[in-house]
Amino acid sequence: MTHRDKDFIVALPDDIKKGRTTDVYFLRTVKILKSEGLEKVRVYAEITVSSMPRSYRWAILGGLRDVIKLFRGLPVDLYAMPEGSVFYDRDYYGTREPILAISGEYASFAVYETPMLGFLAFGSGIVTKTARLRKIAGNRIKILSFGARRMHPAVSPFISFYAYIGGCDGVSCVRGAEFLGVKPMGTMPHSLIIIYRAIRGNHAEAWRAFHRVLPKDVPRIMLVDTFYDEKEEALMAVEALGPENIYGIRLDTPSSRRGRFEDIVREVKWELKLRGWEKVKIILSGGIDEESLSRLIEAGADGFGIGSTIANAPIIDVAMDIVAVERGGSWIPIAKRGKMAGLKQVYRCQKCLTDIVVEINEKVSQCPVCGGSMREMLLPYLRNGELVREIPSPHETREYVLDQLEKLDLNRKPWE
Ligand SMILES: [Zn+2]
Repeated sequence: MTHRDKDFIVALPDDIKKGRTTDVYFLRTVKILKSEGLEKVRVYAEITVSSMPRSYRWAILGGLRDVIKLFRGLPVDLYAMPEGSVFYDRDYYGTREPILAISGEYASFAVYETPMLGFLAFGSGIVTKTARLRKIAGNRIKILSFGARRMHPAVSPFISFYAYIGGCDGVSCVRGAEFLGVKPMGTMPHSLIIIYRAIRGNHAEAWRAFHRVLPKDVPRIMLVDTFYDEKEEALMAVEALGPENIYGIRLDTPSSRRGRFEDIVREVKWELKLRGWEKVKIILSGGIDEESLSRLIEAGADGFGIGSTIANAPIIDVAMDIVAVERGGSWIPIAKRGKMAGLKQVYRCQKCLTDIVVEINEKVSQCPVCGGSMREMLLPYLRNGELVREIPSPHETREYVLDQLEKLDLNRKPWE
């Protein structure tokens, strides 16, 4: 495909599905294998973690549903941990842990290594970061993904999708919400406030217009940091709409005025409470990260719009390696230096989430940590390119993530 002036510089779904985003060395490899009569050679390859971001002890699997779409119709078998599963770089005994495995004729899928790793690294990065934020925030606090403006628009639905799976309550990106089958969520921008102040002379008119024009099911969250002090504008907003109509206020205080943001929150909360308006929720946005999140919750914040921290989440660095090659009808274990050869299975304790990696014919029934029962984690998703397992809805996957989060500690693996 040639580049034209009107095209965005972006790969379309069809380019990805046809392998056009691959690294050129795979094309060269396939060419060599085909011209030397080796295109039918079957391999077994595993995906493992190369390295986790600093301070991460675990990650959550994202991007799998797109990986399955990528491989559907190819002559391959695909095994994976269910999407939303926690995974580790290494198991209880220190063995590198496979999160996904593919078997088939290497020449038929070599070019898909590049996009597959991209889906997994990026998707898992987003889910894991959001899950960490959710773990810090607990279940009562609302977290919305505001990250669409912080990354390339072509991937903003993907970011929204996996932010939701990681535990966000909603997403602001309209196309992202469509993929999830949920309503997009958001408040109001400063532009609305500025226009009403400039043209109608009073920015409280912007709040009233929001209430007048928008349907009732849109929560009335008023932006209160545009011109005056947050405390002052918060009270003005409640008076403008009436305490019975307002759901919350949003503070997006610029960094030049922030000082101690948590003290601004405390002050606003105090003033609202003095007037009996303690039901008015305080929503914060702008530069929220893992560190500031807990301080701001302690100060009384009820919800957050989080952009950069989610959209710019560190990727989870994953790699694909051949661990066996078929010769004379059986698998010959073979792997590069630094990787364990042979087909493997991952067993997981259903109680404490401890993992043990074993050679595929071995079985592990009891958890060495808590004695709980262990279950196989690498499950078949594709057989010869046909889907053999249902992909859960994003809502089910999100619930699965939240269930595991109950058992996970932010800073250690279950057996540490
Ligand atoms: Zn256990």
